[in-house]
Amino acid sequence: MAKAVGIDLGTTNSVIAVMEGGRPEVIVNAEGNRTTPSVVAYKGDERLVGQIARRQAALNPQATLFEVKRFIGRRWDEVKDEAARSPFTVKEGPGGSVRITVDGKDYAPEQVSAEVLRKLVADASAKLGQKITDAVITVPAYFDNSQREATKQAGEIAGLNVLRVINEPTAAALAYGLERKGNETVLVFDLGGGTFDVTILELGDGVFEVKSTSGDTALGGADFDQRIVDWLAEEFNKEHNFDLRKDKQALQRLIEAAEKAKIELSNASETSISLPFITFDPETRTPLHLERTLTRAKFEELTADLLKRVRKPVEQALSDAKLSASDINEVILVGGSTRIPAVKRIVQDITGKTPNESVNPDEAVALGAAVQAGIIQGDSSLGDIVLVDVTPLTLGVEVQGGMIAPMITRNTTVPAKKTEIYTTAQDNQPGVEINVLQGERPMAADNKSLGRFKLEGIPPMRAGQAQIEVTFDIDANGILHVTAKEKTTGKESSIRIENTTTLDKNDVERMVKEAEENAEADKLRKEKVEKRNALAQLRLQATQQLDEHANAPQDARDRLKAVADEAEEAVNSDDDSRIADVQKRLEDELRDFMTKGAQAQPEAGATSASAAEDDVIDADFKPADDK
Ligand code: AMP
Repeated sequence: MAKAVGIDLGTTNSVIAVMEGGRPEVIVNAEGNRTTPSVVAYKGDERLVGQIARRQAALNPQATLFEVKRFIGRRWDEVKDEAARSPFTVKEGPGGSVRITVDGKDYAPEQVSAEVLRKLVADASAKLGQKITDAVITVPAYFDNSQREATKQAGEIAGLNVLRVINEPTAAALAYGLERKGNETVLVFDLGGGTFDVTILELGDGVFEVKSTSGDTALGGADFDQRIVDWLAEEFNKEHNFDLRKDKQALQRLIEAAEKAKIELSNASETSISLPFITFDPETRTPLHLERTLTRAKFEELTADLLKRVRKPVEQALSDAKLSASDINEVILVGGSTRIPAVKRIVQDITGKTPNESVNPDEAVALGAAVQAGIIQGDSSLGDIVLVDVTPLTLGVEVQGGMIAPMITRNTTVPAKKTEIYTTAQDNQPGVEINVLQGERPMAADNKSLGRFKLEGIPPMRAGQAQIEVTFDIDANGILHVTAKEKTTGKESSIRIENTTTLDKNDVERMVKEAEENAEADKLRKEKVEKRNALAQLRLQATQQLDEHANAPQDARDRLKAVADEAEEAVNSDDDSRIADVQKRLEDELRDFMTKGAQAQPEAGATSASAAEDDVIDADFKPADDK
């Protein structure tokens, strides 16, 4: 059985890991790195993923997609503001969903994320020497149903069998707790690139039991970057009366410089930001440069309200777990943004504990996902590990007066199933529409509607007489299935909650096909390049041989040179059969030259540079102890 992997599909970076000899290990990518930027760029009909995509972002801002996780499974009206700040085009898609447009083509966020997954898995398959098909993918604990469903679909589009979707902080706790003995209550504080989660777990005897989880799916490192971007742009505007955020290329450079400055400020008390030639003066057309010094104190001032936002979810998680801060034994930091000194300070301030930094904040989530993949595959080295997780948000239905009637409350252990009986509000009501909601607010309209479905054909009855049995069934992935049944008629209706923002089955199938075709096109493109590289390499070898064997028979030299010259032209051509033909002839000529031509005795009187050199070596050099 091929191994299953664990994947941390991050907002900024992604990581893939696998169980090796009873321990989870990160698999390095084709570039030799342990993390892969979650960046996808489209360049003509070519797609670049990871570091190579990130590197060309400033030159290709409208076709370089990053932080796409912020849009996955979201509704357009939830992300409008974020979309407006993006250097690439994000717009409303079908049914209020989100689409990203590049060169006139629309992409679903799931599709873009699938490209990242595909690269991670392809590189890992090459490293492990086996085709990977099964994966556990992590999501922020606070992801709602449609965000989870969309992440699972991204996996499917990438051609993966998604064994399980698990919560990032729970995964991190698995990685942390694997080697710990004894009972502990831990708080995982996970502040990544785009999301914030806090989870409280009890660990002991191989049982990992999540007590509560809370968070903010719209808070992460990118918000800290944005504060620096805004500050830089406003300062520049004051000086030059030009808003750099309106120039997509300048904006991309600002974003990159802001993140760099933020990271530097984790270790230094000030940093300088220098962006020469950031734009042109609109009147004089002279180049303008941006030079600023940012101190850590100023950065903390710019981000003070973001820092404050982490407090409430921590307090909420403690109160839901019916614990106080003093009951927590360890605080584990996960996510790159926990390296910000002010973040560490605030965690310490809220919990009264010095955070435990024993886990690598960039890798713990993927390592834990690999452990979970091992558990599902029955990896015997893991012993009996039991993972008990919860659903982060309350699930319910809309009832009379636009209220929400909770069915499964937040922090209920998953999987879970709950049935309730509802009835009609009017006499002879022929049907009901069931609006499935997720959220903590009392009014339906303030929560997220996961989907609506109708139960029709209710026989004429007085109001309150119909017996409509509604069942909510939430699986181990945290994904919900709902059924409704009118008991007097036995009429049943059900939906697997797929709200309008998630893709329907046909879309997923089409995207799987497209992704496979793209992968095939990429493979062909790569093969094409490799063939040309091989020919160029061979030509180089031929010219080196010609240089080294200047005294070889002229006709052998001429023959080899003629084919080498042909190769020089052929490498630039698009004609594969010509490349193959020249490659074959050059190989033959080179072999011939090396066996016959180069070793042919020089004609009488002719001197061979290399033969002469050989003679010198023979005559003048001897092992030292021969003396
Ligand atoms: P993650 O999603 O866990 O990969 O976290 C990525 C986020 O962490 C990005 O916003 C990074 O800019 C941020 N990050 C990474 N390293 C540091 C650092 N040393 N200081 C501050 N933020 C960092």
